[in-house]
Amino acid sequence: MANPSLLILAGDGIGPEVMAEVKKIIGWFGAKRGVTFDVTEDLVGGCAYDKHGTPLHDDTMAKAQEVDAVLLGAVGGPQYDILDFSVKPERGLLRLRKEMDLYSNLRPAQCFDALADFSSLKKEVVAGLDIVIVRELTSGVYFGEPRGIFTEGNERVGINTQRYTESEIARVARSAFELARRRNNKVCSMEKANVMESGILWRQVVQEVHDKEYPDVQLSHMYADAGAMQLCRWPKQFDVIVTDNLFGDLLSDAAAMLTGSLGMLPSASLGAPMANGRPKALYEPVHGSAPDIAGQGKANPIACILSFAMALRYSFDMGDDATRVEKAVEKVLADGVRTADLMGPEGGKPVSTSQMGDAILAA
Ligand code: ATP
Ligand code: MG
Repeated sequence: MANPSLLILAGDGIGPEVMAEVKKIIGWFGAKRGVTFDVTEDLVGGCAYDKHGTPLHDDTMAKAQEVDAVLLGAVGGPQYDILDFSVKPERGLLRLRKEMDLYSNLRPAQCFDALADFSSLKKEVVAGLDIVIVRELTSGVYFGEPRGIFTEGNERVGINTQRYTESEIARVARSAFELARRRNNKVCSMEKANVMESGILWRQVVQEVHDKEYPDVQLSHMYADAGAMQLCRWPKQFDVIVTDNLFGDLLSDAAAMLTGSLGMLPSASLGAPMANGRPKALYEPVHGSAPDIAGQGKANPIACILSFAMALRYSFDMGDDATRVEKAVEKVLADGVRTADLMGPEGGKPVSTSQMGDAILAA
């Protein structure tokens, strides 16, 4: 069987710094577990613009379509702010998402016990939290037509259209149910069927896909506003939440803050199943290129490392190994190893990016 293939796009700012720690772990899998990844590295974002005059070269795009998974660091930086919109670093990432048709965005909110004090909520509300928000990423109000600012009579009117087709809802619902089967078999779907037609259709289609294809999964429905409230009140009642693009944008940011630092949060964006049955996939930390700390060896590599763990689980069928990586992160945090972003006001001595990577590797 061919080796699992991975395209690494480290990008800009702290991207290459945190990715260096993932590469150590990939090396460990080759040396200690006999799992060799065929790794290709390429450019995305500002560094690609510097070399090719475009934030994503066509050759890179073609490679991304061929591999089992893409692992991305971060893109952007203040030196690129002056660029034309069409070649901004972020456009490279948007092109990847669009051409790979990554419609299902998984944002886990996982609270490691050792960091529970970091949450904005009480410790008992968040300790041990482990949920995933599945956000529809390619449709809905961000894309629906008509959109624009028009003139009506003697005033302007701004218009966006919330629009979902049945197939768009069904495919993201499937992605959530598949995820649930790999976790705790529980999905809560959120919309506003009380006031929105697209919400009524959303609820119907999610229920139909469930009844036909995933009757073994426990499904509930909640209005998204009530869901936001419950997410803050008692988040551990949830396991997988599936919702549309707009509500998912808000709910996943809110859920992120339940767990503490931006430097901890991984994500996956999944598309249609490929020939091997696994979805097209791009994994990346939620954080950006962090220009304020880039080049200083301060960045927390955990978000990127946990993104790789998600790749192991969802693209390579290596769930046990994914858990092994996550447990190593948990152990290191429990041992008190902290990068600067994980230190409270009482201070202490933070470790560097590579020291954190080494500690996780050792664990
Ligand atoms: P983008 O627009 O690319 O999403 P952003 O403006 O949201 O970027 P980030 O680059 O994510 O911002 O950085 C926000 C803050 O969080 C910065 O102060 C940055 O230093 C910090 N930060 C982000 N990622 C990390 C990390 N991995 N480790 C430590 N600090 C981080
Ligand atoms: Mg941001």
